[in-house]
Amino acid sequence: MALTRYFCDAAWLGGGAVATDVLVTVEGARFGRVEAGAVRPATAVHLRGLTLPGFANAHSHAFHRVLRGRSERAGSFWTWRDDMYAVASVLAPEGYYRLARAIFGEMALAGFTAVGEFHYLHHQVGGVPYDDPNVMGEALFEAATAAGVRITLLDACYLESAPGRPPEGVQTRFSDGSVDTWAARVAGLRSAASGADRRVGAAVHSLRAVPPRAAAAVAGWASAEGAPLHVHLSEQPVENDAVTAAYGASPAALLEEAGAFGPSTTAVHATHLQPAGVTALGRSGTSVCMCPSTERLLADGIGPAHALAGAGSPISLGTDCHGMIDPFEEMRGLELDERLASGARGRFAAPALVEAAAASGHASLGWPDAGRIAEGWIADLVTVSLDGPKLAGAGGDHVLERAVFAAAAADVTGVVAAGRAIVEERRHLLVGDVARELRHEIGAVVDALSAS
Ligand SMILES: [Zn+2]
Repeated sequence: MALTRYFCDAAWLGGGAVATDVLVTVEGARFGRVEAGAVRPATAVHLRGLTLPGFANAHSHAFHRVLRGRSERAGSFWTWRDDMYAVASVLAPEGYYRLARAIFGEMALAGFTAVGEFHYLHHQVGGVPYDDPNVMGEALFEAATAAGVRITLLDACYLESAPGRPPEGVQTRFSDGSVDTWAARVAGLRSAASGADRRVGAAVHSLRAVPPRAAAAVAGWASAEGAPLHVHLSEQPVENDAVTAAYGASPAALLEEAGAFGPSTTAVHATHLQPAGVTALGRSGTSVCMCPSTERLLADGIGPAHALAGAGSPISLGTDCHGMIDPFEEMRGLELDERLASGARGRFAAPALVEAAAASGHASLGWPDAGRIAEGWIADLVTVSLDGPKLAGAGGDHVLERAVFAAAAADVTGVVAAGRAIVEERRHLLVGDVARELRHEIGAVVDALSAS
């Protein structure tokens, strides 16, 4: 088995403090011995700066990255959704692979070693399945592997435009027509998920798009398969109103009744949750994935993250619509948005924020043995330079706070994912020039949009 040793000037190994002079042995894809206060061997790879565990991007819709900077006009969540639907109407499998590879490459450069891709772009325009009905999901698998990151493909059931209304327009690409057809297709996806870097999970798009009875069937499938289940929950007040009007209860109450809550479920956003919903999520140990930069960008609001954590829900983080792909922005966003909403500071300290971005995120994607630098865990390492003008002099001895509250994705200099170096000196070793790839692939989508 390949054995590599890394010597970290400083590394966060859990707890409140940062350890110095940490010698990390990597055996294959996992950590062997991890030793603080070590002497640097000449043969070890020297990681300067601060080394953190790999981050998990627990909520991603890769193609939304096309809209970065292109949908900043006045409007609402719903006008942004119109723009997103236009992009969704021009994507095809071949281009989708190249686009997603570039976007997952950007994630790797930022320190993400795993992505939870919430996938609903299944079928051809008009809703007819491709000859291979999972060709779009397989493109995402291949893209993640090509970019060196692990992927959990959260295949979303999507059946309705709104309660009682069939899918309209581009939404027909998302729908399998019935939950049984969804389950049969996803069962086929499992064969494409072979490999240590891939998982299949289930998703209920939302209770706006999936009736409670079908949501219960998806939850039953996930439970029987031991697969993670993700669901958009109460992102917008309109969603709460439409669901409550149609079914007589809140989305959270209906999901609880459907048996959808539990430790292997992640509710995404939970922005407009009622107190009873906070209690239901917490007592069931359901994770909540917050996406602070997206929730700002889409004018969603600020969710009750602190109350959820206090009630018992692990908090994870995602970059969702990819207005930016920066784990540091999401980490501090969780705490800073709480400050705006509550008038109090320090509800999520730096170690809790790293825990959310790392171990809690990986666990929500079905990788409970990733997100910590410790013997036996999956060997992910993210090294942050502390020397740039932005970070110089910041934090004093509080090195972790310096990184979490002031660093940016561009400060990540090196990334090891499952024992393999994928980023060195800020360069992606597999994708190469990620910016060029993004320019090219996004350009192709924009050309298709203007031709459509
Ligand atoms: Zn989403």
